[in-house]
Amino acid sequence: MNTTIPGLHHVTAITGDAGRNFDFYAGLLGLRLVKRTVNFDDPAIYHLYYGDAAGSPGSVITFFVWPNGARGRQGAGQVAITSFAIPQAALGYWVARLVQHAVRYEGPTRRFDEQVLAFRDPDGLSLELVARQGLEHGQSWDGAAVPPEYAIQGIHGVTLWEENPGRTAAMLNDHLAFRLVREEDDRVRFAAGDEVADVVQAHGFWRGEVGVGIVHHVAWRTPDDEEEQQWREKLTRLGYDVTPVRDRQYFRSIYFREPGGVLFEIATDLPGFAVDEPAERLGTHLQLPPWLEPHRSRIEQSLPPLQLPAWNVPGT
Ligand code: ZN
Repeated sequence: MNTTIPGLHHVTAITGDAGRNFDFYAGLLGLRLVKRTVNFDDPAIYHLYYGDAAGSPGSVITFFVWPNGARGRQGAGQVAITSFAIPQAALGYWVARLVQHAVRYEGPTRRFDEQVLAFRDPDGLSLELVARQGLEHGQSWDGAAVPPEYAIQGIHGVTLWEENPGRTAAMLNDHLAFRLVREEDDRVRFAAGDEVADVVQAHGFWRGEVGVGIVHHVAWRTPDDEEEQQWREKLTRLGYDVTPVRDRQYFRSIYFREPGGVLFEIATDLPGFAVDEPAERLGTHLQLPPWLEPHRSRIEQSLPPLQLPAWNVPGT
């Protein structure tokens, strides 16, 4: 099997407040809400997806909404930091924007020849903006308050905190065929397509705990169902405890834990977010998969109201 992982698909984290989350990711960061649905494994809670104009794989960050949920704990065995890519010329714009919105930040600091701004979302989730050279202008959403030349161009990568980084590094390199890019101090950088996974030594740290303000899992891309099945067979043969393929409506997924405990998903590029609503109306209505549609009225009654500003709808 010579299949490789063409890049990162999405990152999923947990928020305690849908409205505040929307204001931050769609308002401040200028991402598009591309899907408003529920957690298919727990339809009593929202699942919100943000990304570029189309919700392209590699641009997407999603949130399970746990109202009044317990805060998580950042620690070893987690995706500790999620980084977004911005054009190099956008660094000054983002410093000013964070100051203007009273978001505390650190930096810019230099890492692997890139400038990094570090900050947290309102739930305490650790984020970065990484200024990248030669970043092609992608399909950022023109309905956002951020001018297109400064817009976030997708996810740059994730930072994994690991008690035993060697095992995770070997897994990424040997089993997922990520490329080793560079090493610096206690950080080893791997790449899958244009995105990176930094494995950072977190020896002696407490274990992380899932909760509000913490990443739940990171998903890597695979083009289609056939390669998804090949990954499932290969990883099972290598001894990983891999779930059956699950239909996530916008992609199909398998899940397993890497040796350090981080939950990994491999998700198909197809069929994408326009499968159940027109591309120009993405994220404007609650979408349910066919198997939950018969329970719509009960689900809608149990969900908290979600008032979104009119500017989520193009042309308003
Ligand atoms: Zn996922």
